[in-house]
Amino acid sequence: MRRLCNSINRQHGGEAWRDVDELGMWLRREGYDVGRLTPRDLDELLALRDAMWRSITGRSIAPLASALEHLRFRPVVDDHVLRLVAEGSMADIVAGRLVAVVVDAQTTGAWDRVKACAQCSWVFIDASRNRSGRWCSMSACGGREKARAYRARRRTGGSGT
Ligand SMILES: [Zn+2]
Repeated sequence: MRRLCNSINRQHGGEAWRDVDELGMWLRREGYDVGRLTPRDLDELLALRDAMWRSITGRSIAPLASALEHLRFRPVVDDHVLRLVAEGSMADIVAGRLVAVVVDAQTTGAWDRVKACAQCSWVFIDASRNRSGRWCSMSACGGREKARAYRARRRTGGSGT
């Protein structure tokens, strides 16, 4: 889920899914058994990623839910474990796996810890005890923001208190 969101770099404009071939490579790296991909799969997964982003930043599951409402699931027994697998295109199969991850994250409460970095927009899991983390990494983005706030205070001559 986090890797899917981060397949685009919102700060620097890097995109890992520029065409169907790149999407295929990315999915294979993620362990998907990729069959034939179509431009429609790419469009659907770009829309899914966007919906996921809006759900994370807007703290609402609604955008993601509406991107998933066409999915149809079928129960599959896989090594004595019952799973729900989405039927349809490659994009639907990927979306179906995302559903499983989000359902699990909501059940365990981990969903509340999925956030977008206030500095670089990277999606990260907030491991802080009171779930107050705002940056993907305190040393990189948190430090940068603090330095900027410090410089801004110096410029205005304020004490910052
Ligand atoms: Zn960051």
